[in-house]
Amino acid sequence: MAEDLLRERLSKFIPPKEEWTPVDEALYGVEDIYNVPEEKAKKLREDAIRYSFKHHYEGNKFYHNYCKKAGVKPDDIKTEEDFNKIPLVPDTFFKSYPDIEEDGGKNFLKWLEKIYTGELPKIAIEKNTTISKMQSKLNKKGIKLCHTSGTSKKISILPHTNESIGHYVHTYTCALSEMLSYKDKIKMICFSSRMPMDIAIGNVFKMAENTGVWNMLYLLENLGIDLSIMKKRTDEKKKKMLESSLKKLEKMGEDEDYLFFLPPPFLPPILKIMDVHGLKFNFRNANALTGGGGWIMTQESYRDALFEYFGISQDRHIDLYTTTELDVCVSQCKGHYYHLPPSVLYPFVLDEEMNPLPCGEYGRFSFLDSLANSYPGFIITGDRVKLLEHCPECDRPGPVLAPEISRVPGVESRGCAEVMAKVLEEMRE
Ligand SMILES: [Zn+2]
Repeated sequence: MAEDLLRERLSKFIPPKEEWTPVDEALYGVEDIYNVPEEKAKKLREDAIRYSFKHHYEGNKFYHNYCKKAGVKPDDIKTEEDFNKIPLVPDTFFKSYPDIEEDGGKNFLKWLEKIYTGELPKIAIEKNTTISKMQSKLNKKGIKLCHTSGTSKKISILPHTNESIGHYVHTYTCALSEMLSYKDKIKMICFSSRMPMDIAIGNVFKMAENTGVWNMLYLLENLGIDLSIMKKRTDEKKKKMLESSLKKLEKMGEDEDYLFFLPPPFLPPILKIMDVHGLKFNFRNANALTGGGGWIMTQESYRDALFEYFGISQDRHIDLYTTTELDVCVSQCKGHYYHLPPSVLYPFVLDEEMNPLPCGEYGRFSFLDSLANSYPGFIITGDRVKLLEHCPECDRPGPVLAPEISRVPGVESRGCAEVMAKVLEEMRE
């Protein structure tokens, strides 16, 4: 792959081979993380997850106690057949932090120390502290406190490290290379302003940009991300800004292989303005990317609009399954099935009683993510998915999720939530 400049750039950020852990081996030791022969993937995954489980068992105070309560230790996890013994953490657990307002952040920091794998760097808390003040202090010490963009009342907060954001940039870029065939610097046109650094994707974009792997143009730089443009139709100033941003597109070469990042909630107000001004484009060589949910329409209708207004054909759009609790990019192929990188991730689906379901049945998406290094990435999500052993649309080996993903109704995980609350309670000094 000598002509692949994208991979060449990316390779500069891979740790030296002599320092590789089994997790690095599973991530950096394969040519295409979405296309690893089954036997090879199984071996790499087994080693990576076993290593990762030991890492969190030994380095994470909360997880250690949680595993002890479940009666599981690293020696019990020998092969993949033992993976069902690994205690899982519901994603809602990362909302279980104490309110900062109550005691000026003291207990919040204690909570963070307990759920962080390793020694959390010490920071001083000042008076009237806020999450974002703590974020910037921790950031200086290499910890990225990321939260969900927040569709529910209480947001999830997770500590990431530069290394784990690097994992994400790597897999993200691999997805664009493999699924959309980018082989050189990615010219990304973001229909948004710069992403804030307190959400994982903001860190990913910034790191990707800093590494010179991507080139970003933020079309809506001054608009903010509050989407208020959608709600307040009377806000003429913002409307004008959006109009002039869209007109910038007229000066861009329609033959270029841009990558459009256009979050679904932004599409309707953009189309409205394009209608008023009779704007239509034919970016025939461009691709489009979405990720992180916010589907206010079906993916099909999104793709229809993309073709009609921007000339981007159906098979040039891919969606990524992203969640703050996952350090790996789960990417659609051109057939729109979500590919789960098989050498680093072990996915499964649970029924409402938390029992594993066979492939092909809808249930709660769960996974063992070997790449998470600063918190245990053995997660039960609130997403309803169907897992298939192979993609019906392309010939890449390894499991996929069907395109239809929704939320599990009544999303709080039963069972283990009580046990976790008890473990945390017992850990209180
Ligand atoms: Zn596929």
